[in-house]
Amino acid sequence: MGKLVVISGPSGVGKGTVINILKDIYQEKKEKLYLSISCTTRSRREGEIDGISYYFITEEEFKTRINENDFLEYNQYGTGKYYGTPKSVTLDYLNKGYDVILEIDINGYKQIKEQFPECIGIFIMPPSRKELYARLKNRNTESEEVIKTRLETAKEEIKNRHIYDYIIVNENNKSNVTADKIYKILKK
Ligand code: 5GP
Repeated sequence: MGKLVVISGPSGVGKGTVINILKDIYQEKKEKLYLSISCTTRSRREGEIDGISYYFITEEEFKTRINENDFLEYNQYGTGKYYGTPKSVTLDYLNKGYDVILEIDINGYKQIKEQFPECIGIFIMPPSRKELYARLKNRNTESEEVIKTRLETAKEEIKNRHIYDYIIVNENNKSNVTADKIYKILKK
C-alpha cells in the first residue's frame, strides 16, 4: 500500500511547480508516484490539457458522478466551481503500492483525513501575502475579481493551516528546496 499525501496551499503559492519537481525526484529514483487528476467544472486555462491538468466536465456530469458515489471527496471552491477526486483510480494506485498525491483544498483535506487518518497532510505557505498577490498577478490567468476571491480564500486557508501534519514555506525561487523537503517527509 502506498502513502496517501494531500498537498494544499493558497492558489498561486506554487504547488504545481513543486509537485512537478517531486515527480522528477521519484522518476530519478525509479519510485512509484501517481499524481491524482481531479475533475472540475471550471473552464480550462490556456495551456491546460483535458485529462492531464484536470478532467474538465460539465456541472451536470459532476452532479451525476456525485450521486454515483464516484468521488473520494469533492468541494465547491471560491466562485462556486466544483472540484473532486475520482475514487476508483486513486484507490487502485494506492493498492498497487504507488504514493498518491492529491493537490486539493482544505475542505477536501478534511474529508480525506476523516476517511484515511494515516494520510499525510502538507500545507504550502507563501513567504508573505504581498508575495502571494504578486504571484497570482504575474500568472496572468485570472481576472482581478477572481484574484480577490482567491486571496480571501487564502486568508481562511492560512488561518486553518494547523490542521495539517506539516507546514512548509515555499520561498521565492526555491521550489526545488520545497520539493526536497516534501520528499524527505514522505520517506521518513
Ligand atoms: P485551480 O482552479 O487554481 O486549479 O484550483 C483551485 C483550488 O482547487 C486549489 O486550491 C486546488 O488545490 C483545489 N482543487 C483542485 N482539485 C481539487 C479536488 O479534486 N478537490 C478539492 N477539494 N480541491 C481541489
